[in-house]
Amino acid sequence: MKRLLPLLLSCALLAGCGAGQASPSAGTEADTQYFFAMDTIMSITAYDGDTSAALVAAQQEVNRLEALWSRTRPESDVSRLNDHAGDGTAVPIQPETARLLETAAAAARESGLAFDPVLAPVMDAWGFGLTESETTAVHRVPSQEELSALLPLTRDLPQVAAGEDGSYTAALPLTGQAADLGGIAKGASAAYVVDALTAHGVENAILSLGGNITALGCRPDGRPFQVLVTDPLASEDGYLCTIALEGGLTCSTSGGYERYFESDGVTYHHIIDPSTGYPAQSGLLSVTTVAADPALADAWSTALFVLGPDRALELWRSGEGTVAGMELILVTQDQQVYVTQGLEEGLQFHGEEAGYTYEIVRR
Ligand code: ADP
Ligand code: MG
Repeated sequence: MKRLLPLLLSCALLAGCGAGQASPSAGTEADTQYFFAMDTIMSITAYDGDTSAALVAAQQEVNRLEALWSRTRPESDVSRLNDHAGDGTAVPIQPETARLLETAAAAARESGLAFDPVLAPVMDAWGFGLTESETTAVHRVPSQEELSALLPLTRDLPQVAAGEDGSYTAALPLTGQAADLGGIAKGASAAYVVDALTAHGVENAILSLGGNITALGCRPDGRPFQVLVTDPLASEDGYLCTIALEGGLTCSTSGGYERYFESDGVTYHHIIDPSTGYPAQSGLLSVTTVAADPALADAWSTALFVLGPDRALELWRSGEGTVAGMELILVTQDQQVYVTQGLEEGLQFHGEEAGYTYEIVRR
């Protein structure tokens, strides 16, 4: 979290460079809103339209979704779903939550459950389940017995049902189960933020929702936004490369360096391999996905981090399925950076001095 703000600021700076010079709708100033939501710092910069009303509406959307999807607010859809796990209740949920659960389930199935939206019992055992401020004291390494007892509570996806009147319910089949949508909720919010901005006439904007950056339109000078990809090994705000982003695409990064704790000299991070219950050890330091659907960009950056570089590139090369329609940046533990061909044109690589080498991966 410490490194997030400077990174965000520098990202906004890069993304905003040139603002006001050749504004797409003359006379409008860029307007930026920073706020804290979903346990992270978010920023939205709008370059045209009714920027102040748009930014208020956009932030309200994130707050509204957080109230539905939070695990720590007792009245949220997710909390009520979790409270009724295994008791047979079909819990009424909002359409936004139904859509989120369906998207999460699709990513879960397609990734062979590398993305698992019901990992909460395991996350909690590690102390990663609560908010950042609450976790400091409770991070711990669970025993193998404890994890083995919790793993059967994962994998069984929420059952979502649609009523004839357009209402939705959801249920978790097993007692003790709990959903944790932390790997997809921020990305999913971006689609709603874009709608809120568009409704106020915004055609060009850059959103940064905690590791997920969405570029609506382009920069005021007509060029794509430049997005920084973090150097996962840098102790300060080092970055590996910049990529070009525009036209509604979202760039999502997941890395073990984002949240972790140390115990007896071993580092444990917050992306869990659902097949073991332990932090994923796939040989990757970070995964960046670029995709049209922000929820899928977010879910798959987490899933591919679990699956590792070989499987990730295999899915991308296959030409079929969700990952084949994305672009990827995979950073391995041995400092190899794989960049898929669609990102080549807008790529500026800065990682050589820090010991990285990169390779463009082609189909
Ligand atoms: P961040 O939330 O730090 O931006 P991610 O998008 O990778 O990073 O999401 C990590 C979060 O997703 C974790 O904090 C946890 O809530 C959840 N999570 C961890 N491992 C998995 C997994 N294998 N599948 C689904 N969600 C996961
Ligand atoms: Mg994610």
